[in-house]
Amino acid sequence: MQTMKLGEVRISRVIEIDRSSFPTASMLPGSNADVIAGHHRWLKPHFFDERTGDLASRIQTYVVRTPRHTILIDTGVGNDKARTLAPAWNMRTGTYLDDLAALGVTPEQVDFVVCTHLHVDHVGWNTRWKEGRWVPTFPKAKYVIAGAEWEFWKYENDSGKEESGCIADSVVPVVEAGQALLVDSDFKIGEHLRFEPWVGHTPGHVCVRLTTSAGSAVFSGDLMHRTVQVAEPQWSSRFCYDPAQARDTRRAFVERHADSGTMILAGHFPHPGFIVKEGGGYRFRLPG
Ligand SMILES: [Zn+2]
Repeated sequence: MQTMKLGEVRISRVIEIDRSSFPTASMLPGSNADVIAGHHRWLKPHFFDERTGDLASRIQTYVVRTPRHTILIDTGVGNDKARTLAPAWNMRTGTYLDDLAALGVTPEQVDFVVCTHLHVDHVGWNTRWKEGRWVPTFPKAKYVIAGAEWEFWKYENDSGKEESGCIADSVVPVVEAGQALLVDSDFKIGEHLRFEPWVGHTPGHVCVRLTTSAGSAVFSGDLMHRTVQVAEPQWSSRFCYDPAQARDTRRAFVERHADSGTMILAGHFPHPGFIVKEGGGYRFRLPG
């Protein structure tokens, strides 16, 4: 995806990890390989990864530039962080900030960092290791987090149940630095972006709706993890806090946005696209 223009807003992305960290069978425990194969006709080639023989996935940050603000949506895994969940996440030495600079964005220029939810692969670059401690990577930014999401994870962290370590090293430091904006689940950023609660994957998960003079888009976070879930929304991920609620939320999202002309930019999808109705069901298609 090159930088796209939607009216007066530019959308780019930084891809931190360009393949899936977990096989689909593990990621979507209720999925079925034969059913997925039945969708290959539309999943291939764009939503499939021939290197792994599995569905494509990314860990990425969307960079949204409005006439007034530079906004990052979700911040990946981060560098130098001890992460046992996936080998590719542990003590990374990635080029994320260089890749952001290549888009013309320095850390100082970022006005808002949005976390759709506080999972380990969405908060990593909130902080970086500097002079012996974790400090906010974006020194002038407000980090916008749904209050309900923070309350849940603060409790998990304080009670020792949060095992990844990401709340302690990637969220608490921005709160302590006074840079966190803990907001209602319908918060607006400028005139273009607005939070919407779509919960189930986590208790305070939000999507971020972009409205421009030339159409709208939704940054859907982890409401869906693999493109096949557009057609099979009943498959929740192994990381969904409430799989039944996540399923109902996903179904409602797919139905609402099918044939709507709203561009969908999911946290882990390899490309933006549109949900379309087809043959009594739904599928995803590239723009254009
Ligand atoms: Zn994720």
